[in-house]
Amino acid sequence: MEDFDQLVSSLTPREENSAIKSYQNTVAVACPACEEPFDDMVVCKEPPTSLNLSRTLDLCVDVHDEQAVIFTHQK
Ligand SMILES: [Zn+2]
Repeated sequence: MEDFDQLVSSLTPREENSAIKSYQNTVAVACPACEEPFDDMVVCKEPPTSLNLSRTLDLCVDVHDEQAVIFTHQK
């Protein structure tokens, strides 16, 4: 993914544990995959990782430094 560092610097860090790091998109940055603004970005630091999602979401996936990066879109 290009411009990953720039993307991260635009987002608000929310949660980090040994498996994931999540960021909230408070400024409506466009998703690199579908170009719609996404809600949250989750970096999977340690695959395989389970995401315990409490809602039904549309997801887009990218890869950065061999880590899966997930973009969530709330319906
Ligand atoms: Zn997307």
